[in-house]
Amino acid sequence: MTRLRRLARRVFKEGRTMNDDMKATNRTAQWQALSRDHHLPPFTDYKLLNAKGARIITRAEGVYLWDSDGHRILDGMAGLWCVNVGYGREELVQAATQQMRELSYYNLFFQTAHPPAIELAQTIADLAPEGMNHVFFTGSGSESNDTVLRMVRHYWATKGQPEKKVIIGRWNGYHGSTVAGVSLGGMKALHEQGDLPIPGIEHIVQPYWYGEGGDMNPDEFGVWAAEQLEKKILEVGEDKVAAFIAEPIQGAGGVIVPPKTYWPKIQEILAKYDILLIADEVICGFGRTGEWFGSQYYGLKPDLMPIAKGLTSGYIPMGGVIVRDRIVKVLNQGGEFYHGFTYSGHPVAAAVALENIRILRDEGIVERVKSETAPYLQKRWQTLADHPLVGETRGVGMVAALELVRDKRTRARFTDRSAGMICREHCFRNGLVMRAVGDTMIISPPLIIKPEQIDELVTLARKCLDQTAADLNG
Ligand SMILES: *Cc1c(COP(=O)(O)O)cnc(C)c1O
Repeated sequence: MTRLRRLARRVFKEGRTMNDDMKATNRTAQWQALSRDHHLPPFTDYKLLNAKGARIITRAEGVYLWDSDGHRILDGMAGLWCVNVGYGREELVQAATQQMRELSYYNLFFQTAHPPAIELAQTIADLAPEGMNHVFFTGSGSESNDTVLRMVRHYWATKGQPEKKVIIGRWNGYHGSTVAGVSLGGMKALHEQGDLPIPGIEHIVQPYWYGEGGDMNPDEFGVWAAEQLEKKILEVGEDKVAAFIAEPIQGAGGVIVPPKTYWPKIQEILAKYDILLIADEVICGFGRTGEWFGSQYYGLKPDLMPIAKGLTSGYIPMGGVIVRDRIVKVLNQGGEFYHGFTYSGHPVAAAVALENIRILRDEGIVERVKSETAPYLQKRWQTLADHPLVGETRGVGMVAALELVRDKRTRARFTDRSAGMICREHCFRNGLVMRAVGDTMIISPPLIIKPEQIDELVTLARKCLDQTAADLNG
């Protein structure tokens, strides 16, 4: 290992790539050993990983990744739902380089600003739903949701209703990995680590018809699931509830597309009790649904929209919260908002976000998703429904899911819920990234994926399903 570290230092000094020097050696094994010795990766079972070794990704272009053994992999997840314009766009490299030369960093605290952050705020306001014209910048989706929690409570306190501070989220929702993010989210396994959620947060059912709809049809279930919000509001007390937070389509929870009756009923209830809507657009934002925001796809009127991921297509970290005018009006009366991050509105990130949005706009990428590639992806994805393992296929825009089941008719699952992991491993082996959420397989490819690459994705997915079925039956 010390030899490798020396090598790394020398390579760094001489400006050569690590890969060149390691070609003759067993690079992958060495990277894996170094990783095990020094790196603690996120969302990982360390014991399992150490027994097996990490998959080392070294390069990417368009919709493809390459690993350290030179295998090409079709990235059906756009990284983590974020690489909307695809990998390797030189314009984004240029935008970052130029901004670093001009103004590499300055903060936005204490009555200061710089052009990239201001221009980006205006550009985002142009794309956002009517009446949402201000942006608070952060470094990630999680920071955006921490911001939302504090901003919403500050809003009600400024309005003279400080007791209105409970935020209602949903079981199996995902809002990030910080203390507030995990608390607002509804993943029980995450709650169990670190004694979460924090006080003042409640959860209701998710609108997951296939998994939890029982004997109801999807429309009945959508109304029932929304009515659970009203029940919770009455239980907590309407004068205590500040906001409801939800993803327009749940991503990490398994691409859960709500029945069409769900969102209209939710909005009706929120209006009735004067409760704010926080639409977490971290995945749905920036074209994923074929609209700029998921809220536009569903006709929602949110008060706050956390954003991140597709904002910069993952080229550099950045997040934000888009805020409705009527909220800003109150915040303007609230004195200093004691909240912000060293890298809020970072000029280099803002320059990259601006260029990313320019690409999405100038190349008509969002429109093409809506009119062409999303309908094609969804049509091809549905062809997998005839597979003996597949209980349901579903999707909107450029996200889709399928449910692996033991019995299609009764929706019965495999008892140990291992089908998803088996399928995921086959995918990697066959050169496809498809994610497993329990036994739900999900995709969220780069928005620039071409029809022939969609064919390749679906063909690979079927091959992996066949191999998974053979394993499960064997
Ligand atoms: C990924 C995600 C987050 C967290 O974003 P990070 O940048 O990982 O902190 C929050 N909300 C949703 C809906 C997400 O998908």
